[in-house]
Amino acid sequence: MNTAIRPPLLCPFEKIFSSQLQRDDEFYMALAYNQAIDAWKQDEVPIGAVIVLGGEVIAAAHNQRDSTRDPTAHAEMLAFTQAAKAIGDWRLNEATLYVTKEPCPMCSGATLMARLKRVVYAVPDPKMGCLGGATDLNLLAKSNHRLEITRGVLERPSLELLQSYFRLKRTEA
Ligand SMILES: [Zn+2]
Repeated sequence: MNTAIRPPLLCPFEKIFSSQLQRDDEFYMALAYNQAIDAWKQDEVPIGAVIVLGGEVIAAAHNQRDSTRDPTAHAEMLAFTQAAKAIGDWRLNEATLYVTKEPCPMCSGATLMARLKRVVYAVPDPKMGCLGGATDLNLLAKSNHRLEITRGVLERPSLELLQSYFRLKRTEA
C-alpha cells in the first residue's frame, strides 16, 4: 500500500464560521460545508455531512472514498456509523442529516434504514440523487417510514465547491 503523505491540496475556499447563537439549518449546513473543504484538502470529492440530535452534533464526516479505497466511504455512511456509535443505537429516528449534496442511492437507502427523521441537503443531484433528484426513495409505496426533506440550504457555495474541484481535476488530468 502506498503510504506516502501527500501535501494538502490547495483549496481556494474558506470555511464558514457562523454565529453559535442562531443554530438553524444554515448553521448546521455550514458545518457540513466545512467538512467538504476538509475533503478537498485530502484530495477527495468535496462532500461533507453532519448528523444532529437535539441540537447537538453527534457525527461529522466527509467523503473518504479514495483514501480508504472503499466504495461505501461516502460522507453520509461514515456519519451514520459515527452517530449510531455515539448514541448506542442504529435507530436515528430523532436525528437530522445535513449533507452538501443530495444523497446517492446507497446513502438515501441508509437514511431510510436508519429511520432518520429529517434530511437537509444543499445541492440537488438529477443524475444520482435519490431523495427527489433522479428519483425519490422517500416515496416507496409500501414503506411506512417518511423522511422530512429540506432542499437547497447553502446550495450555492456547496455547488461552487464541487464544480471548482472537478474543474481543477480536469485541468490536472
Ligand atoms: Zn452516497
